[in-house]
Amino acid sequence: MAYECPRCGQPVRRGYSSTAQHAAGLIGALFYAAFGSFQCAKCGTVARREFPPEVRTRMATGSFLMVLGAIVLIGFVLWIVSKM
Ligand SMILES: [Zn+2]
Repeated sequence: MAYECPRCGQPVRRGYSSTAQHAAGLIGALFYAAFGSFQCAKCGTVARREFPPEVRTRMATGSFLMVLGAIVLIGFVLWIVSKM
């Protein structure tokens, strides 16, 4: 899932927060990545609202799939733990 920076056209990465990871572990970091802002190598942090509407729609879908993946992962881990 690569998106272009609305300012310079370079690819942006999903933001990463070590604070979120400390607070809630891997899941917290994942939720932050799903709903937080994006990072451009050239411009720094790019807010979600700076992207055009159709890109934001794709982001929302991507975020939904990430969260869904996280829930499946938690369910799988709990299932493994219950079998041990
Ligand atoms: Zn940029």
